[in-house]
Amino acid sequence: MTDTSHKIMVIGLDGASFNFIGPFCQTGIMPNLYRFWQKSCSGELVSSYPPVTPAAWVTFMTGKLAGKHHVLDFEQFRFTDNSLRYNSSVDIEAQSLWAIISAHNGKVGVINVPMTYPPEPVNGILIAGHNVPNPSTQYTYPTAFKADLLKCVPDYLNHAPKPHHVRSASAFENMVKEYTRTVDDYHQAVNLVDEKLDWDFLMVVFPHTDIGHRMWPYMNPESSHLYPERRDRVARIFSKLDQALGSLFHLAEDRNADVIIMSDHGHGTTQGWVRANKLLQKWGYITMDNPLRWLGKRLYRECQKVRYKDKYTRPARYIDEKLGIEWSKTKAVVCQAVMWGHLYLNVRGRQPHGIVEPGEEYDALRKDLIERFLAATDPDTEEKLFDKVIKPETVYGPSKTPWAHPDLLLVPPEGMRVNKRIRHSWVVKRTVPERAEGTHLLKGLWMAAGPQIKSNTQFEANIQDVAPTILALMGLPVPDDMDGKVLTSIFKQKPKPLFSKTSRTESETRDTAVYSIEEEKQIEQQLADLGYID
Ligand SMILES: [Zn+2]
Repeated sequence: MTDTSHKIMVIGLDGASFNFIGPFCQTGIMPNLYRFWQKSCSGELVSSYPPVTPAAWVTFMTGKLAGKHHVLDFEQFRFTDNSLRYNSSVDIEAQSLWAIISAHNGKVGVINVPMTYPPEPVNGILIAGHNVPNPSTQYTYPTAFKADLLKCVPDYLNHAPKPHHVRSASAFENMVKEYTRTVDDYHQAVNLVDEKLDWDFLMVVFPHTDIGHRMWPYMNPESSHLYPERRDRVARIFSKLDQALGSLFHLAEDRNADVIIMSDHGHGTTQGWVRANKLLQKWGYITMDNPLRWLGKRLYRECQKVRYKDKYTRPARYIDEKLGIEWSKTKAVVCQAVMWGHLYLNVRGRQPHGIVEPGEEYDALRKDLIERFLAATDPDTEEKLFDKVIKPETVYGPSKTPWAHPDLLLVPPEGMRVNKRIRHSWVVKRTVPERAEGTHLLKGLWMAAGPQIKSNTQFEANIQDVAPTILALMGLPVPDDMDGKVLTSIFKQKPKPLFSKTSRTESETRDTAVYSIEEEKQIEQQLADLGYID
C-alpha cells in the first residue's frame, strides 16, 4: 500500500529558459505549453553551481547541494593520481527522489533523466538518460523492460541526436527529422510506462531543448531572422515537442496528477572564451613540461591502452598528459572547464607531487588567486574576465568528505566560458554574436499546474527546491537534510510540514569504475557533438 496521496508528473526540458521558450510560445509554435504556462505558477529556476547538466539534474533529484551529492560536472577530478573520470549514477552520494518515493511504496516511472546510468533499482521502471555510453548497455530497470521498450521504440536513443549547424541543407533537414522522431520516441516510452504501471510519480526529460549549443543562431530571437530557412526547420522540432507536451498534459489530467515543468539551466549567446590556465602560467603558478618528455608520456600512454585488456584496469586520463604541465613545479591549475573553471591547488599529501602546504600556504594562495582573477581584464576591451571567484564551501555547505570539491570555482561573466587549454596563444577570444553558439545560463525555468496548485503566482525558485516540493505535493515526508525548501506558496492548501530523518548513511566512498575505455570515448564523443568539449 503506497503512502502517497497524490500523483505527480514532471516534464524536464533540458536547457530551456524563457528568453527563447517565451517567443516560441507567443508566436504560435508552442500553443500547448503557452496555455499551460498561462494557468500555472511559474518563474525562473536558479541552477546548480556550476550550471551544467549533470550537477543540475543531480541537485534536482537529490534536493541537495553539491556538498552532499558531490557531482559537479560530467567528469570528476581524482586526487589520488591527478586524473579525470566520467561520473555516473554510482558517484551520486545522496538518495534520489525516486528512491525516496519507492521507499514509501510509491510507484515511479523515470524516463531519460541525465545521470541515471547505471539504472538504480526502483519500485517501478527506470530508463536511464544522458550518460548511457551506447545502446547495447543495460540501461533499464528492470532489465527485462528493455526488450519491451525496443519492441515499442526500435531505435531508442538515450541522448539527443547529433546536432549539425554547418552542414548542407539536406544534412540539416535529416537532423531535424531525427530530432522530431526522438520526440515521438520519448513520448511513446512515456505511454508504454503508463500502460505498464499505475504510477504515482512519472518523469521524462526531453533533451531537445538543449540543442542551443549548436543551433543557437537559428533559435535565438535576436539572430534567427538572419537564417529564415534554418529557423523554420528548428521551429519544427519545438512544434513537435509541443504536440507531445499537449498529449502529456491530457494524460496528467486523466490521472488527476499535478504537473511540474522544469529545466536544469537556461541558454544564451556565447560571448567568448577565457583561458584561465594561460593566466595561471603567466602568473608563474603553472610550469609546462619539457615538450619532448610530454610527447614521450603521450606515446607511452597510447601503448599502454593497447596493453590493457581488462575493462576496468586501464590507464587513467591524466591532467598533465592532457595539458602538458609539470606537476612538481605547478601550484594551481584548472582541471575541468565546461562552463566555469574548476581550479585545484597542488596540495602536498593530497596529490602526488603536491607542493602547496595545507594550512597557511594553502589559504594565502587561495586569497592571492581570488584577488588576481577578480582583477584580470581583457586587454582589448578592459572588461573584467571573471565575475566571481567562489570558495566552494561557501556555496555548497560543509562536506562530510574531505577535499570533495575544487579549491576555487572561477565564474566568468554571463555568456563567457572558461577553457582549460594552455598550448595556444590567446587568452581571451570573443565571438561574433549573430553566429555564436549557445551556452548555459544560470537561470532555467519552472512551471507548475494541477489540482493541488494555485494559478498565476510568479517567483524565482532554486533547482534544489523541486524535490522537496514534489514530496510535499505527494503527501510524503521531506528528509530533513535536503537543502531545498518546499515551495509552499504554490499549494492551494498549505501542506503540514512533514520531515523525516534521512534514511541512509551518505557520503559512502565509492570507487567503482563504470565505463570501459571504449565507453569513455563514446561519452566524450557525445559531449563533443553537443558542444560541451572541444
Ligand atoms: Zn542541461
